[in-house]
Amino acid sequence: MDATLANRLNSYGQDLLKRYGERVHKIALDAGFTCPNRDGSKGTGGCTFCNNASFSPAADSRQSLIEQIDQAKGRITRRTHAKRFIAYFQAYTNTYADIEELAAMYRDALQRSGIIGISVGTRPDCVSSQVLDLLDNIRRDGHEVWLELGLQSAFDETLARVNRGHTLAEYRDTALAARQRGIPLCTHLIVGLPGETEQHYHASLDMVLDIGVDGLKLHPLHVVKHTMLAYQWRRGGYLPLTKPDYIRIAADLIERTPEDVVFHRVTATASRDILLAPAWCAEKWNVLNGIEQELRQRDSRQGRRAGTPFSIKELEHVA
Ligand code: SF4
Repeated sequence: MDATLANRLNSYGQDLLKRYGERVHKIALDAGFTCPNRDGSKGTGGCTFCNNASFSPAADSRQSLIEQIDQAKGRITRRTHAKRFIAYFQAYTNTYADIEELAAMYRDALQRSGIIGISVGTRPDCVSSQVLDLLDNIRRDGHEVWLELGLQSAFDETLARVNRGHTLAEYRDTALAARQRGIPLCTHLIVGLPGETEQHYHASLDMVLDIGVDGLKLHPLHVVKHTMLAYQWRRGGYLPLTKPDYIRIAADLIERTPEDVVFHRVTATASRDILLAPAWCAEKWNVLNGIEQELRQRDSRQGRRAGTPFSIKELEHVA
């Protein structure tokens, strides 16, 4: 995350720097999982916006986990001289396998030199108590552990509209069970889902904060090739957010998030070869700079409006 923006929010990069005394880099991995929302066990077709090529373009599932880790470590080290890394199980649903298989995979990653922890991205309905116990044990061994749950919206109507195949109740159960064990939880929320307005984004944030969360990822919805959303967008059935709108809404959400919640991400990009719209989603740094500028103009930062109810009127100071 941009250093200046990091002064206005509690960023994961800064959080790691404070805790480890040096920069820690995340290595995005594709461990060859699939997804229960694609293979028929929960649903077929996947979420309407999902093309996993947009998640971790650097990772290649044809390579072994170890090859992916070693190659990424080499790349990052040549650039930054970094010594510590987190293995980020990112692509698809990274808890969708037998527990023995998962344990072997996570432990293999942790055995590579410099890997201090794991971050596991998954669906709320695919996290058994065995998986939570496994993550808890890894955490108790002294490793950095994050469970990353894709919720995207706290509205069941929206979740159904984008074919998520899970509900808010399933998210709540998993989030509570993870936090009860002390496993740090990072929740992903998408801004700009079909049928949603600013009220929805703020209500989703409030619900996630109310249930309890340690980290957040904000993500503008982008339309990528080979998705149902692309089909809807082409037919005029979906209008993407504008960049100024996303920047303003992200700043509003950051202001209303308590300071102790760590932002792992406040925007996301897709590579130009698969991104259809909006074009600004290819320019991560422009968006990050825009959010920083917006917060600076408001003389504000994360937590400034924490605990205050969302109201369009209250937020008119932004205009
Ligand atoms: S749950 Fe994740 S991997 Fe599965 S279809 Fe949805 S976005 Fe894609």
